[in-house]
Amino acid sequence: MFKPRVLITGGAGFLGSHLCERFLAEEYEVICMDNLITGDLGNVEHLFREKDFHFEQRDVTEYIHVPGRLDAILHFASPASPIDYLELPIQTLKVGSLGTHKALGLAKAKRARFLLASTSECYGDPNVHPQSEDYWGNVNPVGPRGVYDEAKRFAEAMTMAYHRYHDVETRIVRIFNTYGPRMRLNDGRALPAFMSQALEGRPLTVFGDGEQTRSFCYVDDLVDGIYRLLRSNEVLPTNIGNPAEMTILEFANKVLEITGSQSTIDFKPLPEDDPKVRQPDITKARAVLDWEPRVDLDTGLRRTLAYFQTRLAEGGTLA
Ligand code: UDP
Repeated sequence: MFKPRVLITGGAGFLGSHLCERFLAEEYEVICMDNLITGDLGNVEHLFREKDFHFEQRDVTEYIHVPGRLDAILHFASPASPIDYLELPIQTLKVGSLGTHKALGLAKAKRARFLLASTSECYGDPNVHPQSEDYWGNVNPVGPRGVYDEAKRFAEAMTMAYHRYHDVETRIVRIFNTYGPRMRLNDGRALPAFMSQALEGRPLTVFGDGEQTRSFCYVDDLVDGIYRLLRSNEVLPTNIGNPAEMTILEFANKVLEITGSQSTIDFKPLPEDDPKVRQPDITKARAVLDWEPRVDLDTGLRRTLAYFQTRLAEGGTLA
């Protein structure tokens, strides 16, 4: 019997590598594609010994060819941290637009189901709280985050167009802040920054007054939601995230508690267009996917800490 075959673009990234693992565990043959700009082969090195795992170093903004059958394509290729898309604005726009177009074209040719990794950034600096899928957002197209937000909004529009005009089976997940092992140590996000600062005894850099909120989801929960969404019939965007909301200052203090660090807190200027609040409304995911997060923040942070400690012991580069 043939195993289903899935292509995961951005498969060597933080989320992509966890998806590769999950699909291998679900008895899929996995083709992991990544240009390794922000992805890291170290994230999937342990999978190379699996006979059903294949790696292709390729840029999805160029023509992509995959020989043979494909049952599903998960389009996860994109720089995804504020520092990354500030450093790589053109690549971010290209992979969200041209890359999504190429991946959708491949899905159409192979009659594969297509799942787009979209983002809570589609809601911008939201005027509606918590954010449900029917909120259209408050995005500044010309601000520093515009390259990511608008690329993903375009990608959603393109995905719906391929669904409506080419009958491609499509799914769209709007991913909220996610954390866990294999986050890049120096990608500038709150968690890697705080954890590495705490472990090195440096002050934690809290931006603004730290009163802005986020809701952090552990990576295994996110991956489970994505797996369920792929197998569901839900075409319109679906939020996947953990609704447990907290201020960034509370989050920084939580990291200090979990790491047992004596670090102080250093307040730094708030980046431009940094959303003031963010919390997913997951009513739809609960109803349609029978999904909700299971890993609480303490448990998730402890698992993540173990990863950071190992990386540090290996001499990893910190934020
Ligand atoms: N943040 C912070 N210190 C840091 C990095 C981030 O206070 O060293 C803040 C950031 O301004 C934002 C929140 O933490 O309000 C989450 O930032 P992250 O980059 O993780 O993701 P975002 O939700 O902004 O995409």
